[in-house]
Amino acid sequence: MKPRIALIAHDKKKDDMIAFAGEYRDFLAGCNLVATGTTGSRLINELGLAVECMHSGPFGGDLQIGARLVTGEIDCVIFLRDPMTPQPHEPDINALVRACDVHDVACATNVSTARLVLGRLISTNRETTA
Ligand code: PGA
Repeated sequence: MKPRIALIAHDKKKDDMIAFAGEYRDFLAGCNLVATGTTGSRLINELGLAVECMHSGPFGGDLQIGARLVTGEIDCVIFLRDPMTPQPHEPDINALVRACDVHDVACATNVSTARLVLGRLISTNRETTA
């Protein structure tokens, strides 16, 4: 089965997300991707990836992704949070990260961790398809 990956980036981290996803574009193109609204639109428009877009984060997108995760539909979350800017939907952000911990789903909140997680998924994928 294709890895099911959720991608979310706060506004000041969106350029980092696009650069990161661009590095891993070939792998991501073979995954089932879901993203919050604005992040997803950028991934579609700038990288040509197929992404299912939820609502924008402040309008409930994190919660939609969290609900999917709870029902076992997400394998990992790349969530580039902005630690320097208060967010209006802080409770939703905490709920999503908490749901990852409750359900033991990998949640990368910075690019270095995201590289480790995708690197692992890529090698696991190679083993299962070899
Ligand atoms: P966005 O949502 O991708 O719609 O901007 C991300 C967020 O701010 O949680």
